[in-house]
Amino acid sequence: MKKSRQMTMLTCSITAAAILAAPGAWSALAQDKASGKTAEEAAPYKKKTERELRRQLTTMQFEVTQNEGTEPAFKNRYWNNKKQGVYKCIVCERQLFTSNTKYKSGTGWPSFYAPYNSANVAYREDNKFFYTRVEVHCSQCGAHLGHVFNDGPKPSGKRYCMNSAAMKFIEKRPTAKQPAQGKQPAQGKGPEGDKGPAGVKQPAKEN
Ligand SMILES: [Zn+2]
Repeated sequence: MKKSRQMTMLTCSITAAAILAAPGAWSALAQDKASGKTAEEAAPYKKKTERELRRQLTTMQFEVTQNEGTEPAFKNRYWNNKKQGVYKCIVCERQLFTSNTKYKSGTGWPSFYAPYNSANVAYREDNKFFYTRVEVHCSQCGAHLGHVFNDGPKPSGKRYCMNSAAMKFIEKRPTAKQPAQGKQPAQGKGPEGDKGPAGVKQPAKEN
C-alpha cells in the first residue's frame, strides 16, 4: 500500500511540473509570433481583389504569386543579390526573409536557410511535379513564394528556394539616419575628446 502511495505522489509531482512549465511554453510561443510583426502587420489584412493585384503586380509577379508560377533561374532580380536588407512579400509587404540567412545555392534563385520568422510563412504539399514538394507561401496574403527542400546548409539543413518576383527587397541603409551611439567625440567638445583610447580611431571619411 505504501508503495502505491509513493507512486501516486510521483505522478502528481510530474503533473505539477508539467503544468508549471506550460505557461512559460505558451508565452515563448506568443513572443515568437509577436516578434515577427510590425505595427502595420498587426492590423487585420484585407485580401486584395484580382483586379487590384493585376494593377499592382507585373505579369511575372502575378503569375508567380497567384498561379504558383516559377520565374527563370538566373534571370530574376535577387538570385545574386548580396546586399544587406530584408525581403518582403510583394503583395502584402509581410517580412519574409533577411539577407542574414541568404546563401549561395548555385540554383539561380534566391535561397535562404530560414525565414525571418516561422509564423510569417506557411506550407502546403505540392504534387504538381513528378515528386512531392513542399510549397511555401506568405502566411498573411497566401502569395506563392517558392518551395523548401531538405538539402540546405547548417544550421537548419533547409533550402528555401524563392522566386524574386514574389518579393520586394528593402536595402538596409548604412547608419546615416541613426544618431551616433556616444562613441564619437562630439566635435572636440566632449570631455573624452582628447582622451579616447588609442587604436579606436574613426576612419577618415572618403569622398
Ligand atoms: Zn503576403
